[in-house]
Amino acid sequence: MVRKIEHIGIAVRDLEAANELYESLLGVKPYKEEAVESEGVVTSFFLTGESKVELLEATTADSPIAKFIEKRGEGIHHIAFEVEDIYEEIKRLKAAGFRILNEEPKKGADNKLVCFVHPKSANGVLVELCQEAVSS
Ligand code: ZN
Repeated sequence: MVRKIEHIGIAVRDLEAANELYESLLGVKPYKEEAVESEGVVTSFFLTGESKVELLEATTADSPIAKFIEKRGEGIHHIAFEVEDIYEEIKRLKAAGFRILNEEPKKGADNKLVCFVHPKSANGVLVELCQEAVSS
């Protein structure tokens, strides 16, 4: 079951500059910055009510964010939905014919288990499913 839009991911060229811009746009400071080495990105998060805005800057040339910006420029990169049980959702979406990019959920930013649905399966939108990771 989907609970809410957890965050919207925005690809940016320069995280420091984008942080300043979004701080004046939203009137709040980012509450955290975090590098996700496996994805080749550094991220920052802004709380906007019950959802968040995630800014992503590439740290390597072959990062998915670098490739995205090269092709399409800066802008909305993905929409993340919080789900109750990510394993169940992956099973359900696979059975419904969606193309899942990683069938085994991986650790994303902000202490989340994440999985991505291919944009070709979702009207051109990269969809992220996420679930709060249980800290052991
Ligand atoms: Zn995300």
